[in-house]
Amino acid sequence: MDRIDLVKESFERKEVPADVPAGKTSEYFGELVFDRKKMCKYLDAESLHALLDCIEGGHALDRKTADGVARGMKEWAMEHGVTHVTHWFQPLTEGTAEKHDSLIDYDGKGGVIESFDGKMLAQQEPDASSFPSGGIRATFEARGYTAWDPTSPVFILDDTLCIPTVFISYTGEALDYKTPLKKALKAVSDAAVPICKLFDPDVTKVYSYLGWEQEYFLVDEALYAARTDLMITGRTLFGHNSSKNQQLDDHYFGAIPTRVANFMRDLEVAGHRLGIPIKTRHNEVAPNQFELAPIYGETNLANDQNQIVMNLMGRIARKHGFVVLLHEKPFDGVNGSGKHNNWSLGTDKGAQLLAPGKDAKGNLQFVTFFVNVLAAVQKHNALMKASIASATNAHRLGANEAPPAIVSAFLGRTMTEVLHKLLEVPSDTPIEIAGKKGKSVGLVEIPEIFVDNTDRNRTSPFAFTGNRFEFRAVGSSANCAGAMTTLNAAVAEQLIEFKAAVEKELAAGKATNVALMDALKPIIKSILDVVCFDGNGYTEEWKKEAARRGLDIETNVPKMFCEFTKPAAVEMFTKTGVYTQKELEARNEVKWETYTKKVQIESRVMVRMALNHIIPAALEYKAKLLQELTLAKGIYGNLDGCTTELRILDDINKYVEEVRVKATAMKEARKAANMIEGEYEKALAYHEIAESLFALRRPIDKLEEVVDNKMWPLPKYRELLFIS
Ligand code: ADP
Ligand code: MG
Repeated sequence: MDRIDLVKESFERKEVPADVPAGKTSEYFGELVFDRKKMCKYLDAESLHALLDCIEGGHALDRKTADGVARGMKEWAMEHGVTHVTHWFQPLTEGTAEKHDSLIDYDGKGGVIESFDGKMLAQQEPDASSFPSGGIRATFEARGYTAWDPTSPVFILDDTLCIPTVFISYTGEALDYKTPLKKALKAVSDAAVPICKLFDPDVTKVYSYLGWEQEYFLVDEALYAARTDLMITGRTLFGHNSSKNQQLDDHYFGAIPTRVANFMRDLEVAGHRLGIPIKTRHNEVAPNQFELAPIYGETNLANDQNQIVMNLMGRIARKHGFVVLLHEKPFDGVNGSGKHNNWSLGTDKGAQLLAPGKDAKGNLQFVTFFVNVLAAVQKHNALMKASIASATNAHRLGANEAPPAIVSAFLGRTMTEVLHKLLEVPSDTPIEIAGKKGKSVGLVEIPEIFVDNTDRNRTSPFAFTGNRFEFRAVGSSANCAGAMTTLNAAVAEQLIEFKAAVEKELAAGKATNVALMDALKPIIKSILDVVCFDGNGYTEEWKKEAARRGLDIETNVPKMFCEFTKPAAVEMFTKTGVYTQKELEARNEVKWETYTKKVQIESRVMVRMALNHIIPAALEYKAKLLQELTLAKGIYGNLDGCTTELRILDDINKYVEEVRVKATAMKEARKAANMIEGEYEKALAYHEIAESLFALRRPIDKLEEVVDNKMWPLPKYRELLFIS
């Protein structure tokens, strides 16, 4: 089928209705999750209490408890027609990994029985040598362990019971995203609790909360299948801009096309059945771009849920004849996709630590955490950027749409004024909130309408939005744990240092509020001077200003990763118990290797498509023109009436030759890069190749403009972006 037929087919694709269960959402919400309700129903009292103890107290699961829990879980799973079980984990590749085992075992009488015990629940030993480990686990010691994380509930996908697990090596190093995330969450709680106790002695735990907003594109599956680049690399490596793309801003928050709405509805239902509180759905800025967001939750669980949702999206899209693109930049010239990570901290006594309080004390607590978060982001701004850097996200960062490749923080007018004022007034000045009727009692005011009132600044990578910070630089395909581990660990380190500073002030005999404020003041001064920036993050002036302030302005992704093994990062991560130096080094190896492979694949696909799709199409059109010229010459005896054909021929010759020369050069560059030994050096070489992909793209996009539309083999942007 040629392109024009494919376009017709996708245009006429039938809408498939969504499959919505009868009854209210609340009736089926969480039915496929082994949550507390199921625990109470299916576990005996002893197993239940022991399990809750593990979950709340962070204790390890003993074998007896595991057996008891597995018994109840099996009963529940069988009622849902489950036949298989898998440990579900998040290795350092993209996405999740699973190895399914059937529940059968010999019954000793020549038959089989369904069997599932505590051992299967608690631990597995996948032959893990094919997962990236950065050299920690050479193939001769291939053993890796997966172990259940009881704080993430077990769930059912199709016929399989999925057990969320951590994935570690034989020698104990983390080989996944979950393990360090859990360590960072513990670190931030341990560091925050002593400070919270200054305000409320009953606090015993601090939770980190994550609310992710997932952006994505949908394309018709028939058109997708005709674009080798989309299929293999997740993005279009060339394609001339559509005459219309997002300039009219008519897609953002527009009416959702029925086919897409049906997809979204199915996705919501699937998410809700798995206990994922999907809440918001809307069109995004670019054509065929959409977003979904759940209600925020505890970070480890919210991150698991994001992984599950990304997986569900892919499957459910197919039912509706779509393919979902999670790539950060599938199309040039229109916005890319991010995954905003809304993040906050809260105590087990219900206090939100990044929202203004009810009284002066609550406000002081809020300002304490607010300022320390900013101090952590300031100190580790380069590391924060490294935590979201990838070959694919590189196309977003620094482009004029997404956060710039400089991590600064947006405070909004209110909080900027509050901080400036705090520097001026005596340290025992109460921080008051203006009452609902606008009556202000103190010197420093935080208006009550504040939460809804924070100005929006889309150009800032780390923005305060009233009761949380929004880390916007995270890529749409990323595992949120990368960013969340670094942020929570950095904040933990800062809180530890801050506590020590407060202790000193207290030892000098100061009252608690004065001690806190005196410890805060130098930090406030510093963050206002450096990391806080409310202006336009896209401008050239900001780049210069940021460099002057000492913020990191590196744009080379392989170089960014070096931040992880610099002394400040190693100290921070080891002090908080999140990563060992060995783990940091190993992870960087994986990051460089992944970067190289991604660019290598893109470059291969691009060269092959240039040689096998683009040049032949251009030459076919050229042959047609030459034929016309021959005819003209035969009839008229000259080419005087053929100026247009001759001009087009010139263009074709020029661009085809440019494509050939650049494609050949890229192949050579790859050959040379492949000879390089070290992963870092190789990634640096591939960074150059990544840049040269743009150069090869240009003449191809020019050819698309010139060659007869009927002869162009690949679906064009206007077709990929406007069919739904
Ligand atoms: P917007 O697009 O305006 O930023 P959305 O409603 O799309 O807002 O997404 C906001 C996200 O922030 C949601 O996932 C929401 O649950 C989450 N969120 C709200 N409050 C908090 C909080 N205190 N901590 C973490 N996440 C939060
Ligand atoms: Mg947002």
